[in-house]
Amino acid sequence: MKKWYSENLDKVVSQLDTNVEVGLTENQVKDRQEKYGKNVFEVEQKTSLLKRILHQLSDVSTIVLLVATALSFLLAIKENEGFIEPIVILAVVVLNVVLAITQEGKAEKALDALADMNAPSCLVLRDGMRISIEATELVPGDIIILETGSVVPSDARLLEATSLSCDEAALTGESEPVEKDASLIIDGTVAVGDQKNMVFSSTVVTAGHGKAVVTDTGMNTQMGQIAGHLNNSENLKTPLQLRLDSLGRVISWIAIGSAFFLLAIGLRGGSSFDEMIMVAISLAVAAVPETLSLIVTLSLTNGVQKMVSKNALIRKLPAVETLGNTSVICSDKTGTLTQNKMTIQELWFNKNQSVLTKSEFNAEEEQMLKQLALASNASIETKEDGQIQYIGDATELAIISLLNDKGFDKKDLESQYEKVAEIPFSSQRKRMTVVFNEDDGYLVITKGALDRIPIARDEKQWEKISEVHDSYADKALRVIALAVKKVKEIPEMDNLEALETNMEFVGLIGLIDPPRPEVKEAIAKAKKAGITTVMITGDHAATAAAIAKEIGILTEGKKVLTGSALAEMSDVELNDTVRNYAVYARVSPEDKIRIVEAWQAQGEVVAMTGDGVNDAPALKAADVGIAMGQTGTEVAKNASDMILTDDNFSTIVEAVEVGRNVYENIKKTILFLLVCNLSEIFIMLFAQIAGWGIVLTPVMLLLINLLGDGIPGLQLANEQSDEDIMAKKPIKRDASIFTPSMLNMILRQTLVCAIVSLIAFYIGDRMTVGGFGPDLVLGETMAFLTVGWTSILHIFNVRSKGSIKNTSISANKPLVYSAFTMIVVFALLVLTPIREIFGMTSIAPIHWLIIAVLSIIPTIICEFAKIYDNNPNAIHRKTYNYIKKIKNN
Ligand code: ATP
Repeated sequence: MKKWYSENLDKVVSQLDTNVEVGLTENQVKDRQEKYGKNVFEVEQKTSLLKRILHQLSDVSTIVLLVATALSFLLAIKENEGFIEPIVILAVVVLNVVLAITQEGKAEKALDALADMNAPSCLVLRDGMRISIEATELVPGDIIILETGSVVPSDARLLEATSLSCDEAALTGESEPVEKDASLIIDGTVAVGDQKNMVFSSTVVTAGHGKAVVTDTGMNTQMGQIAGHLNNSENLKTPLQLRLDSLGRVISWIAIGSAFFLLAIGLRGGSSFDEMIMVAISLAVAAVPETLSLIVTLSLTNGVQKMVSKNALIRKLPAVETLGNTSVICSDKTGTLTQNKMTIQELWFNKNQSVLTKSEFNAEEEQMLKQLALASNASIETKEDGQIQYIGDATELAIISLLNDKGFDKKDLESQYEKVAEIPFSSQRKRMTVVFNEDDGYLVITKGALDRIPIARDEKQWEKISEVHDSYADKALRVIALAVKKVKEIPEMDNLEALETNMEFVGLIGLIDPPRPEVKEAIAKAKKAGITTVMITGDHAATAAAIAKEIGILTEGKKVLTGSALAEMSDVELNDTVRNYAVYARVSPEDKIRIVEAWQAQGEVVAMTGDGVNDAPALKAADVGIAMGQTGTEVAKNASDMILTDDNFSTIVEAVEVGRNVYENIKKTILFLLVCNLSEIFIMLFAQIAGWGIVLTPVMLLLINLLGDGIPGLQLANEQSDEDIMAKKPIKRDASIFTPSMLNMILRQTLVCAIVSLIAFYIGDRMTVGGFGPDLVLGETMAFLTVGWTSILHIFNVRSKGSIKNTSISANKPLVYSAFTMIVVFALLVLTPIREIFGMTSIAPIHWLIIAVLSIIPTIICEFAKIYDNNPNAIHRKTYNYIKKIKNN
């Protein structure tokens, strides 16, 4: 590797054939992208198809099915009855595996697309403009701009560095941030950690800002050369998914156990071995919920896609689920609850009235505005095509905007004043200081929160300043104070803070940042859904309180806690009182973690927003860490579970709704599949114990499970949320998915479905109706149709807790269509000669009628049960009134 750190800067720049002021041109970039390729690390190999197939085959449920296939083959050989049955079972197993692989592939693709959307971006100078591009597009020679919180996108030699420190732990293992110095030229060969005039790909800017020229990209970077670091793929399964996987396994083992049990009692009771093997196979097939895990995966990925369309990018799949459980949302104020479009509404030059309304500023007022602008890093630039580019922090952009309105230009100003030092703004210090060269010394300008600027005190003047400050804050304005100082000499660069003493107060500005229009409604919606919203801000308590009241966060009985009061509280005190506070003001990002933990100690599931480097620990500690897509640093994004691409609080509430919907759909899936599987088991067990023999053959069971359950069931992943989904309290994190009402419904429906199917079998197998029967195959055929149709119809029962007539067909057309198609397919399986393959017979119209009536009974019973479940008192009242009426008559 080239030793870029030991070269003279001019040489570096000329070797990389670039221009420090304008960056590369479009053509240069094109050429270099062709030459060097994308700035990416080689992506790990995708799982091969063979591996996927093997993975599917290693699943307990598939093994059960394969064993069933093998046994069925053995039986066919032994009995010499042809191989139709085992072949069909095998075909169904293969179909199941193919379906699983294709659907999982689809889900994976959706997640890959998401990863692409999550691609990190960086600031670069190209054709003279500062633009944000995807980091993968960088080429050697690009001039990059580094800010606190940036993840360094490539290896680069520093051109400028202001208090720049980088966390290089990912590369060197050194946990202390390394202070960088652009002016160094380092001789000899030194270790990466000592190359202080360089920055390295994938490390993090923890403080300051700077400019650098890209030296190496992609696999040529120091990080690219460390092999294998990319293979730490995260576990993509959610806790619920893992729980359901184990449920699937448990059911499979129960099936195996019951199969052996039946085999044993059957053999002892004198049944033939072959027949009992068939029963065992059937039972195993019946019990395995083949499509459960697939439908759950689909529900989750559908949820992810729905969230994307609502501007929430999920980074970690489990977040989809946790969002549904969220009970507290801790949100930043600026930009998330408010628009982050600041305008200066008051400008108070010491001693005067607010002067903003004056069309012309006097010289002193102009001076104050210029000093504010000099202490700002934001810029407003007009591109060649006339487009205006706003770069930087909203507070500072408001200052530059006013400066421009008054007819001044920031670039002109900067050419008049030579900046020699800067202590950048940070959310902890809540102020920033810049130092300029002057003829006879230096001019120090500090701007920031009034309570954070060390102003030489004159009590009388201070009283007035405080009064003005508070009057602005009470109007929900963000207040920035300006102070200056002239000095003869400045201290060493690492001791610049020594300058921030005894400053001379200049004035105040009050900035309005209106709440986002949709936020008030979103907070009310969250409240209705049992979710508490908490505001956390670095702003002044009065400003925060005024806005919080306006949007419905600070309500009757709730209080504001300031950062200093929080610092005085012990963790125990905070835990005990956390429910009293709706607003945390003048807090630092470091305080957020205490707030998260206090809520968590109360058993709440906490979502927390953040954008800066120092927010990362709180984002990780929260149950759902949410980073801002627009204003967030790469560090915050990397620490998050979800990114808001529009930085908007309302998006969080919408994502919660989607999360709840996913959870509901998974519940519906379980309700749907388990009833079918359990009723099949019940039928098999009952028939054996009653000595009825085999009601459904393994092939029939597989057809029902795959066509009757699987195909329509897949569409449950697309179910829209119930209307009242945001009117319920959040579900506790570890709450069992099997609530008493759900268990009740599963057992009831299982019983009803099993009974009607057994009746169908009995009629065919034991009775003569309309001159047909009794005949075992007729019984089996009738049972097959009844189980199939009741199963398919059951999907309409699970769609809503309310009556079927209230569910909309158009809300999930694929489900309705696929269910009706499958009803027809089942009829065709019996109507056409295909029936021979599956060991069925044709049936008479009277049997069709019986089957149709029996199949609809479970749905009718379910409708009545729902009326009772939803309003037991009403039923009692109705029954009471009815009995009274009869008595009176
Ligand atoms: P949040 O985004 O968490 O709601 P915030 O953005 O309002 O918080 P900070 O950015 O930490 O909080 O700002 C805190 C205080 O620092 C502000 O009230 C203001 O007085 C001051 N401040 C903000 N931006 C600047 C800036 N660019 N220069 C100087 N002072 C600033």
